[in-house]
Amino acid sequence: MTDSISLPTSDWPVLEAGWVWLCGAGPGDPGLLTLHALNALRQADVVIYDALVQEAILDWAPQAEHIYAGKRGGKPSAKQKDISLRLVDLARAGKRVLRLKGGDPFVFGRGGEEAQTLVQHGIPIRIIPGISAGIGGLAYAGIPVTHRDVNQSVTFVTGHDQTGEVTSSLDWEAISRGSQVLVIYMGMKHAERIAGALMAAGRAADEPVAVVVEATTDKQAVLETTLGDLVADIAASKLAPPAIICVGRSVLMRQVLDWQGMAAGAAPRDLDPLGRGMPAEAQ
Ligand code: SAH
Repeated sequence: MTDSISLPTSDWPVLEAGWVWLCGAGPGDPGLLTLHALNALRQADVVIYDALVQEAILDWAPQAEHIYAGKRGGKPSAKQKDISLRLVDLARAGKRVLRLKGGDPFVFGRGGEEAQTLVQHGIPIRIIPGISAGIGGLAYAGIPVTHRDVNQSVTFVTGHDQTGEVTSSLDWEAISRGSQVLVIYMGMKHAERIAGALMAAGRAADEPVAVVVEATTDKQAVLETTLGDLVADIAASKLAPPAIICVGRSVLMRQVLDWQGMAAGAAPRDLDPLGRGMPAEAQ
């Protein structure tokens, strides 16, 4: 697998000894890695990866030592400070260090904290963005994160803070009024409080919601529900994190854009789910 893709000819950056590259691995499907990520995987001496990074991606770095620094899956968890300092130590030991994080390293991933610690210790860094689950994961579910008939803005929200609680600094009233589509990361644990807060702030109980679990992996599952039924439907579905919760009418577009379902032979459920009218030549 490693040799089957050649990077287009270009002056690809060189991962030098003593450097740390902080890199997004995308939401799961290895095909959603960037070319810069692939270039980095091929050069690293050490890859430190999170729980959300699919292990298949590590096959692209067979020469490297692979160190797990995740926080789930029954494996022992590493503290954030320890991870950052480990990166510093590895860089100081002259390694070419690749810090691989799920999605985009700067979207709810503490990448900024790790990068800051590295700079504070005088370690040179490069940042490689990735496809965030809240955009790419929804696309794999057939949900456009913006759609002209639905939303002119989108809000990315985290469902819990460092302590694991619903973030107290979040103004759910303002969030609920702020944009037509909300994309909630880490929202499963507190789905009840989040849905309650949004409805208390005026979002309708029948507003469409999608829960996209393990997006872009072969375990991807999508639950379509409403704000009012979210909690009961999650419980009945037995779906478990990681999941993106998308609140808003763009979820309806899945009825025509569930491209994975269509590739598997399903017919589109509704060719015009938002009631815009069909193009004349398609009628
Ligand atoms: N930096 C990551 C987000 C890290 S926070 C990114 O940009 O995507 C972790 C949360 O991201 C999870 O709790 C979940 O809400 C979301 N997430 C990450 N990967 C996911 C996936 N493949 N499917 C669904 N949700 C995912």
